[in-house]
Amino acid sequence: MSVEAACHCGAVRIFLETPPETVTDCNCSICRRYGVLWAYYAPEAVTFVDPKGPTDTYEWGDRMITFHRCHTCGCVTHWADKDPTYDRMGVNARLLPLQVRDAAHLIHLDRAETANPIKD
Ligand SMILES: [Zn+2]
Repeated sequence: MSVEAACHCGAVRIFLETPPETVTDCNCSICRRYGVLWAYYAPEAVTFVDPKGPTDTYEWGDRMITFHRCHTCGCVTHWADKDPTYDRMGVNARLLPLQVRDAAHLIHLDRAETANPIKD
């Protein structure tokens, strides 16, 4: 069963082959500021309605990954590795229907300190 993630204005629409089993709340310097929940996928499991997408991007540090946000409404939509062979990307699970997000197991990731999951 595929699911669709969409930004607030609908300009960026992303189809995922399957609903996420987990979503990750990371406390690193950028994720905590974005307030996102990441659902991780292999890029081939993710389809963009408009692959050129109306997104603006942000990179920092070693610039290995690019963060995308909708050019119109500003919602953070996904990140992608700049290495096209890297088998992982992140889609903002906050863009999914609430029931899909709520059905996924929430993981708190302590990237800021240990890079380990935080046990609740
Ligand atoms: Zn938008």
